[in-house]
Amino acid sequence: MIDQISIILKIFFFTFGVLIGSFLNVLIYRLPRDLNIVLPRSSCPNCNKMIRWYENIPIISFIKLGGRCSGCGESISYLYPIVELLTGCISLWLAPEYLSYEHLLNYLFLFTIMCIFLVHFIVDLKHKILPDSLNLLLFLLMLSHGWLFYKWTFWLSGLLVGFFVPFSVTWLFYLITKKIGMGGGDLKLYGCLGLYLGPIGIIYNISLSCMLGAVVGGLWLLVAKKNKNEPIPFGPFIIVVSFFQIYYFDFFCRYFPCYR
Ligand SMILES: [Zn+2]
Repeated sequence: MIDQISIILKIFFFTFGVLIGSFLNVLIYRLPRDLNIVLPRSSCPNCNKMIRWYENIPIISFIKLGGRCSGCGESISYLYPIVELLTGCISLWLAPEYLSYEHLLNYLFLFTIMCIFLVHFIVDLKHKILPDSLNLLLFLLMLSHGWLFYKWTFWLSGLLVGFFVPFSVTWLFYLITKKIGMGGGDLKLYGCLGLYLGPIGIIYNISLSCMLGAVVGGLWLLVAKKNKNEPIPFGPFIIVVSFFQIYYFDFFCRYFPCYR
């Protein structure tokens, strides 16, 4: 009986994640284009044909349509079903074992952060921006979390360090080279994360994401033979490091001095 309930719960959390993933696809498309995220209903970007409800069932419709629009036959990006499947798996991974109020709230908090990370990651790679609306949502989530669970000195110093340390470095860099090193979206993201990670955690995040960015960015410039002046999206590096800091907290405590 207990096994049956846990299987039903797993199916529920997976399906819930897939449906949210479908909404994340809407955000990934509309946020960087400054479009309304609720209306109008989705349509094909090539022929403008309205997508009917039965053509909009996550993952299943993509397979049924053979990855093509039913109006013009234009191929639909594989990113859509991948985001839906991935969000479903993330929801399943974070699903609480017991359905208590506290566990559910914790699940919702961690799942929402993962959703913001996922949209930020893809939008920054594609459009080189981190939408303000998502940073604001992250800020409110992290602030309420800090307010409830940490001493105010911890989250406030994290916020200040997270914003002003990279801001000063970027400003100095600009004074010397007349080039903008890091975008405003990156600075805001660091600030939000500082609320959650605290002053030491965010310093680790800044150092590790810059190292990761230097290594991966350098390799990418080498392999893709890109122009050195072309900006490289930095958000994905911050997000990868934050992911490990938030979801593998114990690992950081064990291997990084003074982490907690
Ligand atoms: Zn079409």
